[in-house]
Amino acid sequence: MVTMQTSLMTENTVLTDPFGRVHDYLRLSITDKCNLRCVYCMPEEGLEFFPDEKVLSKAEIVQLVKNFAAMGIKKVRLTGGEPTLRADLCEIVEEISVIPEIEDIALTTNGLALPRLAEKLWKAGLKRLNISIDTFNSEKYREITRGGSLKQLLKGIEAASQFPFVIKLNVVVIKGQNDDEIADFLSYSMTHPVNVRFIEFMPIGHSNNARDTKLWEDNYEGLDRIFQVCAENGWEYKPYYMSGNGPSENYQLAGALGSFGLIHPVSCRFCDSCNRLRITADGAVKSCLYWDDESNIRENIFDFEAFRTQIQDVLALKPQNHEMALAANEKNKFQKPTWRHMSQIGG
Ligand code: SAM
Ligand code: SF4
Repeated sequence: MVTMQTSLMTENTVLTDPFGRVHDYLRLSITDKCNLRCVYCMPEEGLEFFPDEKVLSKAEIVQLVKNFAAMGIKKVRLTGGEPTLRADLCEIVEEISVIPEIEDIALTTNGLALPRLAEKLWKAGLKRLNISIDTFNSEKYREITRGGSLKQLLKGIEAASQFPFVIKLNVVVIKGQNDDEIADFLSYSMTHPVNVRFIEFMPIGHSNNARDTKLWEDNYEGLDRIFQVCAENGWEYKPYYMSGNGPSENYQLAGALGSFGLIHPVSCRFCDSCNRLRITADGAVKSCLYWDDESNIRENIFDFEAFRTQIQDVLALKPQNHEMALAANEKNKFQKPTWRHMSQIGG
């Protein structure tokens, strides 16, 4: 029998925008709540979390992924806020991992709950873990995260390492705070089978007021420093291929067990190859991380035809580029930057 969904699939199995970019990657924020307050992501106070009824339920999340799977999405990343704060996280992973079209399911986490959850997540079908760690210094970790315990995070990384996850460590490079540890992170990639990903500090949620804008201006650092550190230490590296790696440019130090990657959305825009759509915890579809433009999909999740039409409308308006960090007089404004902080988008 040809169902409604199957016949619609044959009409449109790929999500293509006006610039010919095919979208097969969904970043899905399942909560805006977090147990940390990282300086680059959230303000210290004054950010209210969405009430529970505003956040997508498990049934809505799973149906939404099924809809996207029928439209060509192959990879799903669960993020937040902190996704491990959801009591039903493992069930969500389990139900998404059995959707036949979804080839890859990943999670981005601050890692604090992994001592408790690593085994359950592996058993639920999770294959990839990105764990955020910006420093190996306990005091600095507490400062950057505004209260987090590095000891707990290291236990989390250790717990995850007991299972065959593909593990990436996300390191946001913050001038004057952790740029003196680049060599330590590179050394870690020598001795551990992980991909250390250096990420440029992005001005998301930093355009809304002068204090946050200054925070970004004072702390942004481009990633050329990584290569300088390799040169200073006499370390040789070569390009390294990793499948499904999106915008990350990857390298491996000679003789290393792991690898390292650079994600530089600010200094080197990679919008030409953008293959991702984002859903926020409250059900907004964002075709671009940076801009304010968004459209709430929640009421159409259980109506595939309306869902498909709405997603296509969103894609038809996808901007060609973000314009992070251009000088004001250079801007060809698509709209205005998003009002959301990174914790309300998911990275
Ligand atoms: N709570 C989880 C975590 O920290 O991994 C997932 C959500 S967090 C928003 C996703 C990723 O975005 C993290 O790796 C975090 O370091 C990164 N991030 C947050 N704010 C950022 C910013 N302003 N610039 C660059 N990366 C940022
Ligand atoms: Fe929370 Fe992750 Fe943002 Fe840190 S980066 S405040 S852990 S959502």
